Amino acid sequence: MYKLAVDIGGTKTIVGVIDEKMEIIDFQTFETIATSPQQQFDKIVSLAKDYKNKYKQLAPQTLNIAMPGPCEYKEGIFLNPPNLQQYNGFNAGDYIRKQSDFDPAFVNDTDAAIRAEYRDLDVNESSLIYLTISTGIGLAYMNNGKPLHGADGNFGEIGHTIIKTDSDYQCPVCKQYGCVENEISGLAISRKATDIMGEETSTRQAIDMYINDEHSEITAMLDEVMKMTQQLCNNIYSLYNVYTIVLGGGVTNSALPYKESIESYARNHNLMTEGEFKVKISNLNSNVLAGLYDVK
Ligand SMILES: [Zn+2]
Repeated sequence: MYKLAVDIGGTKTIVGVIDEKMEIIDFQTFETIATSPQQQFDKIVSLAKDYKNKYKQLAPQTLNIAMPGPCEYKEGIFLNPPNLQQYNGFNAGDYIRKQSDFDPAFVNDTDAAIRAEYRDLDVNESSLIYLTISTGIGLAYMNNGKPLHGADGNFGEIGHTIIKTDSDYQCPVCKQYGCVENEISGLAISRKATDIMGEETSTRQAIDMYINDEHSEITAMLDEVMKMTQQLCNNIYSLYNVYTIVLGGGVTNSALPYKESIESYARNHNLMTEGEFKVKISNLNSNVLAGLYDVK
């Protein structure tokens, strides 16, 4: 049986058809309509209806949707998504049910991603963490084969917790200094490199300079970013009592030595001894869309 899945991001939205092996059968992408949640969900429902006519194998009412947090995921209400401020208070569940026969289910995007990563794992591990490091930072936790959701589905909003207590950069979203997202994300690397170089410097350019050891301040900056990432992952191993962290997101597919350095930091500093600390770099392209198959 096929299922309909929707991945709503801050910039683009994907509507797709997924089969039971979590393969993507068909999909369409459009630019997220940030100015109007009504238009956004009209478009989603219209594409979903087209697919329903095209594929007879589709579960008739299922429409599994990943939405950027924070949201109230039981009903599908947007609370305060940083990039979709016009959506605040919008009840997507009610809206979709009024426009169609679909019975939608909502999850955090990392919650969907970890389901796909869990199926893709080559080791026999039923508890793991998925950590995404891209523009932002997200986390999900699979506990004995089941993702934990938290009180309202916002489990693992680790981006706005503090990793650097002496940071002089104030977060524009949460107004704290030194939160994870502003210190170790791809966007943070680019911001810090731009400060150092005095001109627009991309994450990729900064990483290239680091790998070739071209600029001492860039090297020091990325050494610190990597150290904080190792510390964060070591905290995660201990807090959740897991031995496997799957890393996803653009930056983790770069030349930065995430796997080796995190595993070795944990071996040297973590007190848990029952397992071997492992980092797996995700090799799934659309783990959010694929993982939505298992939501409902
Ligand atoms: Zn913050």
